Amino acid sequence: MSQRINNFSAGPAVLPVEVLEEAQNSLLDFNGTGIGIMEHSHRGAAFSGVLAQTIADCRKLAEIPDDYQVLFVQGGASSQFFTLPMNFLSEGETADYLVTGAWSKKAVAQAKRFGTAHVASTSEDRNFCYIPETAEYSANPKYVHFTSNNTIFGTQFHKEPETPDGAPLICDASSDIFCRPLDIKKYGMIYAGAQKNLGPSGVTLVVVHDDLVKAGKLDIPEMLQYRTFAENDSCYNTPPTFGIYFMGLVFKWIMKQGGLKEIEIRNQQKSEVLYSYLDNSNLFRATADRGSRSLMNVTFVTGDETIDKRFIEQATAAGFDGLKGHRSVGGMRASLYNAFPPAGVKELVDFMTDFEAKNS
Ligand SMILES: *Cc1c(COP(=O)(O)O)cnc(C)c1O
Repeated sequence: MSQRINNFSAGPAVLPVEVLEEAQNSLLDFNGTGIGIMEHSHRGAAFSGVLAQTIADCRKLAEIPDDYQVLFVQGGASSQFFTLPMNFLSEGETADYLVTGAWSKKAVAQAKRFGTAHVASTSEDRNFCYIPETAEYSANPKYVHFTSNNTIFGTQFHKEPETPDGAPLICDASSDIFCRPLDIKKYGMIYAGAQKNLGPSGVTLVVVHDDLVKAGKLDIPEMLQYRTFAENDSCYNTPPTFGIYFMGLVFKWIMKQGGLKEIEIRNQQKSEVLYSYLDNSNLFRATADRGSRSLMNVTFVTGDETIDKRFIEQATAAGFDGLKGHRSVGGMRASLYNAFPPAGVKELVDFMTDFEAKNS
């Protein structure tokens, strides 16, 4: 087995070793079929079984009711930024957006191509270091869109925003999906690119209520209608078969860990180890406000770019990879997705403690 190092990458990101090993075995021969998982037809029995099982496990894991569709689409979360308004928003109509970071801003820009995008709240005044507590909604929004976890800024909603009656809540959960239990009934739709918490890049999970599927426009390309995916079990065209297979293994892995409740406890413990060190450090500090901090992406700085740079260099050399923060925040970011091992967080804190002693 090769030497795996601590991978704090924001995405694509660390995946569970057990899952990687099982996928590795399936590359040459899936389940004794004599054919690798990537080589099976998407219409054959082997892959059809994988698809059905992945959907069933997703439903079980997140307690998704029957009146929601579990779909697998391509084009990343970024393609949902336009697919969503293309389906549900027309000229003269308004959709409301909670703007808590760079990804929400991109979603707003795409919505503007189809109708009015009303910014109901924003935390841009303080470089997105917090989640606003209130929002000013428009009179009759077609939907309300929010980003549950702000990958770049290290903030996260710790409960769903209150929304006006009748407006479906739509969530980009790319970087925190299944990091904790969620009440899907509060949502009209939730979507996530796989490459942070679910598997490899190239597949996007969409969980959407039947009413929205039906409400989608009919005069847009088939491949951009949710109903096309709903009516064809995500197999209208060739789906990303390997990504779906892998996501299914990740769902099983989460269930084996004890499900979403247990994963949440672990995620809280992992991030707490780092946040409590940061709160007591004389060199480093967390950039996000306390009540808004993310379980998934911990952003921090020293306040001195030269020291940040030295820290990242030395950390990288010591086997802590992917710690450089996004350029819009600077400093460092430790992404602690579901698959990131607790021991790696303790090792990082030990390394930071040592660095602090030498540099303050
Ligand atoms: C990574 C990320 C995206 C972009 O995902 P792609 O699959 O690369 O399009 C969108 N939203 C959030 C919250 C992200 O973390």
